[in-house]
Amino acid sequence: MAESSSISSSGSRALAVIGAGPGGHAAAFLAADLGMSVTLIDERPNPGGVCTFVGCIPSKALLHVAKLLGETAHASAWGIQYATPTIDLDKLRCWKDSVVTRNTGGLGQLAKLRKVRYIQGRASFVDARTLTVSRIEGGDERVSFDTCIIATGSRPATLPNVAIGSDRLLDSTSALEMKRVPKSLLVVGGGYIGLELGTVYAALGSTVSVVEMTDGLLPGADRDLVSILAKRASAAFASIMLNTKVVKMEEQADGVKVTFEGEQANPKEQVFDQVLVSIGRKPNGQVPGIERTRVEVDARGFIKVDAQRRTAEPSIYAIGDVAGEPMLAHKASHEGRLAVEAIAGHKVAWEPRAIPAVVFTDPEIAWCGLSETDARKQGIAIEVAKFPWSASGRATTLDRNDGVTKLILEPKTERVLGVAIAGVGAGELIAEGVLAVEMGAVAKDLELTIHPHPTLSETIMESAEVFFGEATNFYRPKRKS
Ligand SMILES: Cc1cc2nc3c(=O)[nH]c(=O)nc-3n(C[C@H](O)[C@H](O)[C@H](O)COP(=O)(O)OP(=O)(O)OC[C@H]3O[C@@H](n4cnc5c(N)ncnc54)[C@H](O)[C@@H]3O)c2cc1C
Repeated sequence: MAESSSISSSGSRALAVIGAGPGGHAAAFLAADLGMSVTLIDERPNPGGVCTFVGCIPSKALLHVAKLLGETAHASAWGIQYATPTIDLDKLRCWKDSVVTRNTGGLGQLAKLRKVRYIQGRASFVDARTLTVSRIEGGDERVSFDTCIIATGSRPATLPNVAIGSDRLLDSTSALEMKRVPKSLLVVGGGYIGLELGTVYAALGSTVSVVEMTDGLLPGADRDLVSILAKRASAAFASIMLNTKVVKMEEQADGVKVTFEGEQANPKEQVFDQVLVSIGRKPNGQVPGIERTRVEVDARGFIKVDAQRRTAEPSIYAIGDVAGEPMLAHKASHEGRLAVEAIAGHKVAWEPRAIPAVVFTDPEIAWCGLSETDARKQGIAIEVAKFPWSASGRATTLDRNDGVTKLILEPKTERVLGVAIAGVGAGELIAEGVLAVEMGAVAKDLELTIHPHPTLSETIMESAEVFFGEATNFYRPKRKS
């Protein structure tokens, strides 16, 4: 029997948010701050979504450990000998879980402080003003709303026709559970999630191989950045098979026998202890009951939205992974806040100039705004200014000269259209690039901004110096004006 609870209260607009990931909880919290009466619904015990429970946060906790292991292994080059580390997997898992619990518990507290009503359950649409929530603790509840935001996120894509029912087959969620460290691991897919998790397992002692069906790792990213990563990845991983496909998998006593198709697979059949499939993510657009509304879902499962993230059903908005690419947490949060502002009647539209992307591998790769690859594809005239980290004092002190900082500039106006960085800490450095692109900065602005020495941030200023042919630490002849 459905218990009916209308959350509309006189004078305050009732907002229901389905999904409490970085999109949903950012939206719910801002809506509460703006005086709306908010119900936030998610199957998980606290807000956080994929990002905090089984995505960004646990993966970065483990990558932090992988980085430390890498540094201790390299320390002999600086005259420091560490004993070979022993890994207590149970303790490592506990620590990773405690990071998740701390973050999600904190979000739960923030929801309470803001008087956001959190219901742990699965939502389905009754109509364009009503939801039913099947509560995890039991029972159904009706929630009526003036406005609803769908923030149901995405799930791992599976390998069509090849998948097998075996616990040797992992997706990103089960890989993060870290039940054991496999002797050998095949990562299917050379995108960022596969490379990050492959990095973790390689650091913990697995022999990791990567198979990618296109001709390079991180499809879509600029090749000069990827080649820096590929060099290091070739040392960390047992093999990287490009232009190669998995065509068959069979479980046998000692592992999964994988059959490959492609030049770089040698031999064509190989046995791996475990296989991690990370070939992308699918949007959760098919929310139960959505057909009882006018919300439109495209063939890939994305919900169609306008510039304010409103769907074809005026009372319903959609944000985050379910509302389109790029599927990134910071894009979801920004959209969530934007949708709430639109609901509150503010004049807002979704038109970011730069959504940063960060790959937390070793080295990290980060970019924002227009990429060199996209500019060339679209025939956009650009100038590129690159500062190699071999000329960076700070990179030398870190023994990490394998990096580059690159500006993509509009030749006539010298405006910064994009920034791309490969190197340790690139993920932190890219924020300056995002600000430069968003604020319409020109190369001179970056050149004239005094950056602290010795830091890797100087490489952004020095890239601008390279553009003018006046770099202190690197020689490139002056550009012709
Ligand atoms: C391993 C991994 C690493 C990642 N690393 C990064 C990173 O470093 N940086 C980055 O920006 N992004 C990263 N991502 C991507 C990031 O996690 C997503 O882009 C982000 O979580 C999307 O947020 P969202 O709010 O759209 O939805 P999600 O975080 O997917 O949350 C959606 C929530 O909705 C709930 N839900 C779905 N349907 C219903 C329903 N009917 N009723 C109730 N609840 C429902 C789900 O249970 C889920 O909790 C990573 C992803 C993975 C898997």
